[in-house]
Amino acid sequence: MRYGLIGSSGRMGKEIIETFKGHDLVLEVSDTGIFRHGEPEIIIDFSNREALKTAIEMAYQFGAGIVTGTTALNQSDIADLRRLAERVPVVQSFNFSTGINLLRMILKEYSSLLEEFEAEIIEVHHSAKKDAPSGTAIMLKESVGRDLPIHSVRTGGIPGDHRVFFANEGEVIEISHRVISRKVFAIGALKAAMFCAERENGFYSYEEVVRWMQKR
Ligand code: NAD
Repeated sequence: MRYGLIGSSGRMGKEIIETFKGHDLVLEVSDTGIFRHGEPEIIIDFSNREALKTAIEMAYQFGAGIVTGTTALNQSDIADLRRLAERVPVVQSFNFSTGINLLRMILKEYSSLLEEFEAEIIEVHHSAKKDAPSGTAIMLKESVGRDLPIHSVRTGGIPGDHRVFFANEGEVIEISHRVISRKVFAIGALKAAMFCAERENGFYSYEEVVRWMQKR
């Protein structure tokens, strides 16, 4: 697979280059510039909002699918990705780990049974993380299906911890997920790239990639 990488010099970019070994990195974009020596079939984007525009332009230019994990996107960015998805496959998720996506499925299924409980989310990330609350915490809140407080902590080098609490006067249910290595996100991006290779176009979540992997 020939791939382009937006955010190639970043923490995730480095992890992706390591995980995609055996595939050809033909396009690199970072805040130092654009380096291209081939036509990508797929574009992987873990950068920031400002660079998403470049990622989308490249996808149109090369007719390449796109796997984007960049967080802090707004409604208009998502609308741009949906427009692109009419032409090429797009996988967009604020979290490419299998665990968080399974946790979302559990929350969607069972949160309605916990309406009598108060619900809160605590998320903890490394101190260099630019956005708060995390995109993952926002996704988890959507999965619970009601408005609830999100508490963000930024400290040390933690790749990503998320805890969802349901509590009443007598008991507490706590569902938690901890990323031990960023490699899980890079592996998720690779699976999503393989998923795109089998599709003409369409807008997909990582949850659909997880279900596709289970059927293979
Ligand atoms: P980072 O700060 O280490 O790296 C950011 C990268 O983007 C760098 O290569 C930088 O040069 C590039 N960049 C920044 N601005 C740019 C611009 N205007 N033009 C071109 N390139 C630009 O960040 P990171 O920890 O690697 O995370 C990158 C993104 O991925 C963040 O949005 C983060 O929240 C997200 N993330 C998503 C997941 C997921 O599973 N979806 C997991 C981890 C991180």
